[in-house]
Amino acid sequence: MDATKTNPFRVTRVLPEPDLYLHTSRGKPIPVHATILASASTVLENIIMSNRTVKIHGVPYDAVTAFLSFLYTSRCTEEEMDKYGMHLLALSHVYLVPQLKRRCIKGLSQRVNTENVVDVLQLAKMCDAPDLYVKCFKLLTDNFKEVENTEGWRFLQHHDPRLELDILRLMDEHESRKKKCRKQREEEGLYMQLSEAMDCLEHICTKGCTDVGPYDVELSKEKRKPCSKFDTCQPIQVLIRHFATCKKRVNGGCVRCKGMWQLFRLHSFICQQDSCKVPLCRQIQLKMQQENKKVDAKWKLLARKVASVKAMSSLSVPKRKRNEEIRDTIIKSGIRNFKLI
Ligand SMILES: [Zn+2]
Ligand SMILES: [Zn+2]
Ligand SMILES: [Zn+2]
Repeated sequence: MDATKTNPFRVTRVLPEPDLYLHTSRGKPIPVHATILASASTVLENIIMSNRTVKIHGVPYDAVTAFLSFLYTSRCTEEEMDKYGMHLLALSHVYLVPQLKRRCIKGLSQRVNTENVVDVLQLAKMCDAPDLYVKCFKLLTDNFKEVENTEGWRFLQHHDPRLELDILRLMDEHESRKKKCRKQREEEGLYMQLSEAMDCLEHICTKGCTDVGPYDVELSKEKRKPCSKFDTCQPIQVLIRHFATCKKRVNGGCVRCKGMWQLFRLHSFICQQDSCKVPLCRQIQLKMQQENKKVDAKWKLLARKVASVKAMSSLSVPKRKRNEEIRDTIIKSGIRNFKLI
């Protein structure tokens, strides 16, 4: 054999004469070195040891040479990855070449797009490449409208309806999980608002804030400064002023007064102070003790949720971020959605 045949895969060292032919679906058999193939792949080693012919069928000839090239040099060019990345991943999986498999997973992760995502996803599943599978799945779900019109998706529908069903089911689960998380976040935001509203109510009635203050303290000429939670505090101040002067009141069907009454009631449920300055606190507590009915269950649950959301958020989220989130919730849903004012 001539020099090119003894050195077919960009190998710089001098190799002995090839001692084996590798057969492909098309093209001439490729001369190779049994020791090199055996040392790179235990699967090929077993085939060679059992004196069987080495055949790689069903893969383009050039993809096979790119595979062999990696076995000889441990290298794979970007061009080879562009053209044969998927074939190389399949070959590396079948012939157990973990180094090439890692290289292909990385290479394909960078190259996957809406056109090829269905093929890469199927391959990732077959080749047991979970990271690549997750990446494909995310891309597919995020761009399903586009993917649905690709050749790959149509092929999948006709040839692998079970996988199509799996993907659709997973997408559905993913979507409902997302919805559930969103709903939970919204609920937490609302309880957080209520928790802040409780704090504000207490501090308005104890120390005062801007021009609303405790009933037994004279309002000084100098206006009080707004507190750090003024976004929440101000609507409550407006509500307190309204409650004090409204002619219709709760029984007259005033929605704003009803909102205020609910805040007072929630406060009384949570409040443990002996000399609380929040209006009606003691009266409501006494009334609840007298009633002592199952009506309390609803309030108990609400009070518990408000308290637990407050505790969780102060534990798990940095304060600044938490404040931003609360502000976001208030801006988006608006405390008005609470029918406070
Ligand atoms: Zn305030
Ligand atoms: Zn009113
Ligand atoms: Zn109280």
